Amino acid sequence: MKKHILFYLLFATPIFALAQSKNNSKQLTILYTNDLHAHVNPQQLDWISTTHKIGGFANIATLVKNEKIANTNTVYFDAGDYFTGPYISSLTKGAAVIDVMNHMSIDAACIGNHEFDHGWQNVPTQLIKAKFPVLNGNIFVKQTKQLLWNHPYKIIVKNGIRIGVIGLHGQFAFYDTISDEMIQGVEARDEEKYLQQYINELKNKTDLIVLLIHEGIPGRQSSKGITDVGRNLKKDIELAQKISGVDVIVTGHAHQGTPDALESNGTIIVSTDALGMQLGKLTITYDQQKDKIIAYQNKLNYIYDDEVIDDSATKAAINKWENQLSVITQQKICVTPVKLFRSYGEESLLGNMVADAMLFAHPTCDFALVNSGGLRQDIDAGTITLGNLISAFPFPNTNILVDMKGQDVLALFEHAASLTNGILQVSKGVVLTYNEQSPVGNRVVSLTINGQPIQPNQTYKIITSNFMADGGDGYFAFKKAVFRKNTQEIILDAMAAYLKTFSSYSPSLEGRIKKVDN
Ligand code: FE
Repeated sequence: MKKHILFYLLFATPIFALAQSKNNSKQLTILYTNDLHAHVNPQQLDWISTTHKIGGFANIATLVKNEKIANTNTVYFDAGDYFTGPYISSLTKGAAVIDVMNHMSIDAACIGNHEFDHGWQNVPTQLIKAKFPVLNGNIFVKQTKQLLWNHPYKIIVKNGIRIGVIGLHGQFAFYDTISDEMIQGVEARDEEKYLQQYINELKNKTDLIVLLIHEGIPGRQSSKGITDVGRNLKKDIELAQKISGVDVIVTGHAHQGTPDALESNGTIIVSTDALGMQLGKLTITYDQQKDKIIAYQNKLNYIYDDEVIDDSATKAAINKWENQLSVITQQKICVTPVKLFRSYGEESLLGNMVADAMLFAHPTCDFALVNSGGLRQDIDAGTITLGNLISAFPFPNTNILVDMKGQDVLALFEHAASLTNGILQVSKGVVLTYNEQSPVGNRVVSLTINGQPIQPNQTYKIITSNFMADGGDGYFAFKKAVFRKNTQEIILDAMAAYLKTFSSYSPSLEGRIKKVDN
């Protein structure tokens, strides 16, 4: 039933009257994606369809190439976060993803926060291998005038239209979602200032300005899809209000699709729901005499695997890497009779497993905490392989021991209950009750640790990830820790060691996180 609603939304999108071809008007089609997150293969996303697999880079490549053959006035842009998702990215530090993307007929892409998941030095190391233009104009080598990746914009000419394509990263999103130690040598500078500068440099040389940007609030990773928490593109709307002169923004990071394009201060804003679920298609009519877009039409087309033939070159590149990595990824860890799923607002079997594994590695701690956003893919019932674990938690994060006062622990849980960055996933021994209807900062109804209500002045021993301990995802209260030690143990290893103690891992929900209403 859900599919039919989506189908209706897709094709019921109001079609803006496209001007009949006049002498002065020219058409341009912009295909777009964002937040592909290395989902090179089509996947089952039950909230979209229980019968069709969706997405896949080889399908996207076919659709792009077919569109370009049918209509040569077509470009394909991506708004960043192609790294980090299934193991193919983490095991190769993104190299495999770039290699696959080289076959997808991309005209330009910007850099997203997840391109930094293997450190800032790895960014140019991998991007140099890209055969398509990658653009960023506001991430600098610290305290220098040197851009980390010295390609802020590119001019592309299609159908006689000169398109200035600019790539930027939102400063807030950069520091909100990247582990401190991954960006020690770089800094993101004010995107508004640089956007204005690049518009000034481009305006006399171009007809249209297209901005590829990765900004705003992070995307929600969850088993329950878009219904978990409201999401929006507020940051993009505000940016367009502040800086005039951008014709089109293709945005990423929020994982918020735009079946109807947004308009702000004359700027058209578009995005997809991420993970390669859809290929966006924005068709614009540009009037040369008026020097503006006079009409447009936007569609978010869902990509159903059984309706598209794989692009052979893209598929061959995926197969090559998967075969190469299979020695690692096919290692059997244990079996599970249940699906280990994620959740952004509730207790989840995957979150419980990761937190319990961290606590298992450090049994003298009181409890373990992991961010919901760190969990990237459910693990299906059946055999759990090392590849499944890497895809579920694709970060090279380490276990960190922290001692914290109860009052600061409470602050962590208040931030969690705000759901800005998702609820905390907790180990055995923690029971949180929260009320989503209460004001932010006052949502925790009760919090018990090993059966006892949390005491503000008591010190608790916690195990968490380096990302969290650095205040990632807005968990700044970790910075008040009275003790901190990096164990240098990779969390992924802790997960594998823990699961190997089970011949069959069969967890159930235990009521660790409870939601109450007014
Ligand atoms: Fe992102």
